[in-house]
Amino acid sequence: MAFNQLAKDRPRLLIVGGGYVGFTLAQQLQTRIKESGGVVTVVDPNPYMTYLPFLPEVAAGNIEARSAIVPHRQHLKDCELIGGRVESIDHANRTVSIRGIDQGPNFELPYDEIVIAGGSMTRTFPIEGLAENAIGLKTIEEAVSLRNWFWSASRSPR
Ligand SMILES: Cc1cc2nc3c(=O)[nH]c(=O)nc-3n(C[C@H](O)[C@H](O)[C@H](O)COP(=O)(O)OP(=O)(O)OC[C@H]3O[C@@H](n4cnc5c(N)ncnc54)[C@H](O)[C@@H]3O)c2cc1C
Repeated sequence: MAFNQLAKDRPRLLIVGGGYVGFTLAQQLQTRIKESGGVVTVVDPNPYMTYLPFLPEVAAGNIEARSAIVPHRQHLKDCELIGGRVESIDHANRTVSIRGIDQGPNFELPYDEIVIAGGSMTRTFPIEGLAENAIGLKTIEEAVSLRNWFWSASRSPR
């Protein structure tokens, strides 16, 4: 199991995804909910929020990759943070199934209220070869890959 459930008996607001929406919501509600006896739980495979509008700046080499992310642990101190991916939601029983980042067996987590803030999926246009050869611009890793590719291309002899 990927984490020890600390807030077993407290009403839980479960936020699926700690990106822009999930992070902002958790940040605004965490203290009030903690003070009223509940808990905000954020589930995300990444321990940080990626500020996507900065990715082109990272790809262009104008800013460091670390400037485009906001660590959850530093800013969501009153939240319960779970490193994992929500794989299914059982609305009738108010539980989710989570695959932890340690790749252990899935575990169930109950919730009282749920916010689904998992973002969007990148789709490609139907252009031949695009899906196989292009690099997206949705994650820090993709932005760094693009930046490195530009750097090595600019150093290659013509
Ligand atoms: C290159 C780029 C530039 C942009 N520029 C602008 C701009 O200038 N102005 C503007 O208004 N908008 C801009 N946007 C759009 C804006 O960034 C998005 O609208 C915003 O990030 C959406 O927030 P979100 O929380 O819905 O999704 P995201 O920020 O993508 O967060 C989704 C989170 O959910 C997590 N997640 C996904 N699936 C699961 C799961 N199953 N379980 C748990 N967690 C999961 C992901 O790891 C991620 O952390 C830009 C987007 C891109 C890609």
